[in-house]
Amino acid sequence: SSTPSGKRRVLLKVSGEALAGDQGFGIDPAVVGSVAQEIATSLQDHDLEIAVVVGGGNFFRGSTFSEELHIDRASADYMGMLATVMNALSLQSALEHVGVPTRVQSAIEMKEVAEPYIRRRCMRHLEKGRVVIFGAGTGNPFFTTDTCAALRAAEIGATCLLKATKVDGVYSDDPVKNPEARLIPEMSFEEMESEDSIAVMDKTAVTLCRENNIPVVVFNIKTEGMLTQAVTGDRSVGTIIS
Ligand code: UDP
Repeated sequence: SSTPSGKRRVLLKVSGEALAGDQGFGIDPAVVGSVAQEIATSLQDHDLEIAVVVGGGNFFRGSTFSEELHIDRASADYMGMLATVMNALSLQSALEHVGVPTRVQSAIEMKEVAEPYIRRRCMRHLEKGRVVIFGAGTGNPFFTTDTCAALRAAEIGATCLLKATKVDGVYSDDPVKNPEARLIPEMSFEEMESEDSIAVMDKTAVTLCRENNIPVVVFNIKTEGMLTQAVTGDRSVGTIIS
């Protein structure tokens, strides 16, 4: 399927953790730069429209901090959403640096910094060849940016959700603890939702993708050319969940 412009529309999710690189916190300029370059390259090579959801875990995760700082979960989650806006602005600058036009749309209104999220306006930007970066998640506490990615993918009619992470894909077991763990190239949503499966996405996100027939590709952000390969449905890329 394609959009009115005849292009394929994809939703890329970049976790905050991935943006932190090896330092584990904050933004690694090299990583943000390479993500921007990957996006620019795949835009050039393919008839694509790309929207991006950025996470915020490199700065702030609501569930962790609400316990540590004794703040209520909703407030902590709002702080997490604000963190994603910082990542969105950083990716915006990196993309514009490599000549890709962008817009940031925030689910929490902050008009001095970003446009508000308006679905139809977002789609217009995509049709005009701009990369739309979604900040502030869904705008609601108790959700994750993975769920936001699934939601936005469904809203804008994306053909797939590309989940860029720090790992190569979904493994049979934790590869850090178990050297025997192997990468699973393909799996079904049902397998993903089963109790003993390794969680790469929360259940709400998986359910949304399954119900809306949006396949998910989990791949390593560090591997050069991965985005282009993931977009073209290359089977050697990470894990495809459909
Ligand atoms: N968050 C939220 N609602 C959303 C999206 C995010 O409350 O719709 C908050 C939540 O506290 C989360 C934080 O923002 O922990 C950062 O997002 P996430 O953990 O999904 O980022 P990632 O793991 O992708 O870096």
